[in-house]
Amino acid sequence: MANYRAPLRDMQFVFDEVLDAYATLQSLPSQREFGNDLGGAILEEAAKVAENVFAPLNSSGDKQGCQYDPLTKTVKAPDGFRAAYKQFAEGGWTALACSPEFGGQGLPHVLNMMVEEMLCSANLSLGMYPGLTHGAINALTAHGTRELQEQYLPKLISGEWTGTMCLTEPQCGTDLGLIRTRAVGQTDGSYAISGTKIWITGGEHDLVDNILHLVLAKLPDAPDSVKGISLFLVPKVLNDGSRNPVFCGGLEHKMGIKGSSTCVMNFEGAQGWLIGEANQGLRCMFTMMNSARLMVGMQGLGIAQSAYQISLGFARERLQSRSLSGPKAADKPADPITVHPDVRRNLLRQKVMIEGCRALAYFTGLHQDVAHDHPDAEVCQQADDLVQLLTPVVKAFLTDEGFNCANSGLQVLGGSGYTEDWGIEQLVRDSRITMIYEGTNGIQALDLVGRKLGLGGGRAVRSYFALVDGWLKSNADSAYVDAVRSALVQLQQATQWVASEGLKDAEQAAAAATPYLRLFALTSLAWMWARMAVVAQDKLDQGSPETQFYGAKLKSADFFMARILTETDSLLAEVRAGKATLMAFSDEEFAA
Ligand SMILES: Cc1cc2nc3c(=O)[nH]c(=O)nc-3n(C[C@H](O)[C@H](O)[C@H](O)COP(=O)(O)OP(=O)(O)OC[C@H]3O[C@@H](n4cnc5c(N)ncnc54)[C@H](O)[C@@H]3O)c2cc1C
Repeated sequence: MANYRAPLRDMQFVFDEVLDAYATLQSLPSQREFGNDLGGAILEEAAKVAENVFAPLNSSGDKQGCQYDPLTKTVKAPDGFRAAYKQFAEGGWTALACSPEFGGQGLPHVLNMMVEEMLCSANLSLGMYPGLTHGAINALTAHGTRELQEQYLPKLISGEWTGTMCLTEPQCGTDLGLIRTRAVGQTDGSYAISGTKIWITGGEHDLVDNILHLVLAKLPDAPDSVKGISLFLVPKVLNDGSRNPVFCGGLEHKMGIKGSSTCVMNFEGAQGWLIGEANQGLRCMFTMMNSARLMVGMQGLGIAQSAYQISLGFARERLQSRSLSGPKAADKPADPITVHPDVRRNLLRQKVMIEGCRALAYFTGLHQDVAHDHPDAEVCQQADDLVQLLTPVVKAFLTDEGFNCANSGLQVLGGSGYTEDWGIEQLVRDSRITMIYEGTNGIQALDLVGRKLGLGGGRAVRSYFALVDGWLKSNADSAYVDAVRSALVQLQQATQWVASEGLKDAEQAAAAATPYLRLFALTSLAWMWARMAVVAQDKLDQGSPETQFYGAKLKSADFFMARILTETDSLLAEVRAGKATLMAFSDEEFAA
């Protein structure tokens, strides 16, 4: 199996050269000191952690999985995970983008996303333990009382404790209005939480001594819908050292991420504290979910990068058949399979999707920092609109493509991909869940058409289109303006269709949602590729010695426009096809 190598050069290209991120970040009061030296050094160190600490445990963690002990109701993570996590936490990585007020380093969120990408390339299962904790930190920072923050944030941020998100129950996944877990007020101001949650990531494990569960539950008099959900903090171990009655009832046996514990959690009158207002739990949870969704997008990207490295390494070594244009390795019994057009198609599809997705993700992450901290309220608002609009796109498209890239990568390996020797079948299995949790990708598409297009009466989407349009106008001489313009027009036509038909009939918008999201993503990627090509061409014109790196960027942009962006035609047609052919079937007619 190929050893993972963090794509630092490409990360730096996107971050620094294309997005000019250091300049943007230095305009924020909290990041004035954040420069190239610091950013570069942190990324290099993170790459070492990913390559040398996380990656060596990926395959063994998959094979061994987590072990549940029914007597003690405890879970043991795979061998090596506890020590690796300890090293990670002691290195300060859990605190990277957290508030300095509670011991965090206050570095940019986008930097944290970049680190996350590397960790998830190296070992998604291990990366999930600190990953989920971040959601808990965000929710507590945004909605917790000062007392709860002071009590719990420092240890979550230092990585001494981890956090969970407890939403799902047997009868309720997407539809959180169906939650049955109950919270009953106690005389001391706390609540007794009772109920069963399922599929809880990191619900129980031996990496740390305490786990803080963020739990959605209903108060006795709550409305019987999503409007009646409240959020509670429920520690595994209470302040006095006693064990709170929240126990793991078992582990799920699952397709992938076997080193990540996925637990049934039984709350047996466990003591908890309200976070935010009563019945406002969903709003608080969305604080967690928005950044968590971007992080899941990074998981997709990370896996795609790993798969690409494995499949490229294999393809360069594997000798089969001769090139159709004559032998390329005449001294060998056959040519490497990289000579064959169809293998190149699989490899290049991965390469251009990964690099385009990376640009879109960092672009979104950078705006998250601007939204948090820019001194001008209007700029904050615009950045926040953009992040809200692009979050479902990043989550769904990057995870769809994470799986697609892993799958294409496996195809490049042929039978060797299907066996366990090269580790790519694990990536196919591991990546599949990213399309499901944190809201399925179908639900992300509904979020985009149902909520985000209407944000501020269409303000968010209008301002995004204006941003792309403004770039096209000021780069009118560059190579891909026509291609991006034409995709943008198709996206605007699709948006118009969704807005007008969706207003008359919500099922029309829902029927269009998934192809619409993909059209949105491909158009955005086309813009990113056009931007990357402009930078690459400039560098070559200025005589950069990195002719291979920048030359490959131009060829990749060509590939994207000629072989991938063409999909927008069929996506627009699918959007316009509306609900008719979907809803025409009666239940009986579904039968084979
Ligand atoms: C490994 C793993 C880890 C997980 N970790 C956590 C965790 O840490 N915390 C937690 O709370 N949960 C966790 N989950 C649960 C996960 O978030 C849910 O599986 C997910 O939200 C989908 O819910 P569901 O599986 O019940 O699917 P359902 O809600 O039953 O949906 C089934 C299908 O119907 C579609 N669907 C449902 N409603 C609609 C609708 N209104 N419109 C269109 N389509 C719809 C969905 O898109 C999906 O394709 C985890 C799950 C797994 C497998």
